[in-house]
Amino acid sequence: MKYSALRIFTEALGGNKGWKPVWREPEPKARYDVVIIGGGGHGLSTAYYLAKEFGITNVAVLEKGWLGSGNIGRNTTIIRSNYLLPGNEPFYELSMKLWEGLEQDFNYNAMVSQRGIINLFHSDSQRDAYVRRGNAMLMAGADAELLDTEGVRRLCPFLDFDNARFPIRGGLQQKRGGTARHDAVAWGYARGADSRGVDLIQNCEVTGFDIANGVCKGVVTSRGKIAANKVAVCVAGSSSRVMAAAGMRLPIESHVLQAFVSEGLKPVIPGVITFGAGHFYISQSDKGGLVFGGDIDGYNTYAQRGNLPVVEDVCEGGMAIMPMIGRARLLRMWGGVMDMSMDGSPFIDRTHIDGLYFNGGWCYGGFKATPASGYCYAHLIARDHPHPVATELRLDRFKTGRMIDEKGAGAQPNLH
Ligand SMILES: Cc1cc2nc3c(=O)[nH]c(=O)nc-3n(C[C@H](O)[C@H](O)[C@H](O)COP(=O)(O)OP(=O)(O)OC[C@H]3O[C@@H](n4cnc5c(N)ncnc54)[C@H](O)[C@@H]3O)c2cc1C
Repeated sequence: MKYSALRIFTEALGGNKGWKPVWREPEPKARYDVVIIGGGGHGLSTAYYLAKEFGITNVAVLEKGWLGSGNIGRNTTIIRSNYLLPGNEPFYELSMKLWEGLEQDFNYNAMVSQRGIINLFHSDSQRDAYVRRGNAMLMAGADAELLDTEGVRRLCPFLDFDNARFPIRGGLQQKRGGTARHDAVAWGYARGADSRGVDLIQNCEVTGFDIANGVCKGVVTSRGKIAANKVAVCVAGSSSRVMAAAGMRLPIESHVLQAFVSEGLKPVIPGVITFGAGHFYISQSDKGGLVFGGDIDGYNTYAQRGNLPVVEDVCEGGMAIMPMIGRARLLRMWGGVMDMSMDGSPFIDRTHIDGLYFNGGWCYGGFKATPASGYCYAHLIARDHPHPVATELRLDRFKTGRMIDEKGAGAQPNLH
């Protein structure tokens, strides 16, 4: 069923009785060409691009809960491609270009809104670092603009420019950045994959792998064994646990990241704003709620709820740049389990086990990567060599010393 304004009109006339479920509920088959583990944004986009771009449709996505129950439905919806390093920037810029045509591509309203993002800076040295970043972005074909204090003031007059500790000296703006409706992204990809023949199987947990003589031949699940020529793991915060079942130890730790939404307010925040002297980012949803977040909780956990010290830290960050936020009432908060890699950058790679592929290490930045991650992972699975923009996202980069330490802050999850 194609969605269009005309369809809404004709369905309204017919009492809305013609709408069909957005995807089927198939029983798992005994064998597939490709089994994808994890029905989050990345698993679903991988299935979509495998079917659409590479013609591989005998594919199952196995999800232990419901589609979109993980981080794809828990994030603060920020999309951007304002990265510095050559191992990252072309990848995220490909993602931004895919975002720009996504809704037409999969015929689903994902509320992609390029309302812009501003990274604030508070000192001369930070401004120099952002100039460098902006130049790297321009060289990779992205957009970047440096704003001085007055430039930021024109867009966001409510910020505390003369804060004694963190005066706002300007910002690096990417106008093409913005937000997208996170769970609609999962639903759009799910619908697009399903309509091309991919089986989306919910309530199906993968508990082990069928590996013999260094070759992965399928998976063991809560609904029986499923054979596959290729198995693609894509489970974000559960990466360490799932890959341990294949005997692999990853350079990834799991931490919880919290998000917060205030009561609905009149439009006030023009786009996405990030604090440069602490960890705080904010945007406003189309319903009016201020959507914000900050740092990960510092300890390892698989829990989807966090603790109060980080709540305090996030609120301090908010109060430092926009004291008016202290008047808003908090409506909801929740957490998601983050797959924090040691250099802050992700992996899209084959493993040493034939037929077993891995995608993970997205830290708190994998939502914006959803289109490119799926596209590049599908490319790797279909062709067995990496997409040109994902050649550096390798599992062995710590062994070879080719880390992609985007912030140059060190190899610890709490530093990036
Ligand atoms: C609070 C918060 C805010 C964030 N904000 C942003 C942001 O603003 N911008 C941004 O770019 N990124 C953001 N992120 C990060 C982003 O959401 C994640 O990096 C990204 O969603 C991870 O990929 P995914 O969608 O595939 O993960 P998930 O949606 O978590 O998908 C993984 C799936 O695997 C399933 N699974 C796990 N184990 C198994 C198993 N054994 N068998 C079968 N299925 C299994 C899980 O149930 C889950 O559905 C944020 C994350 C959080 C939690």
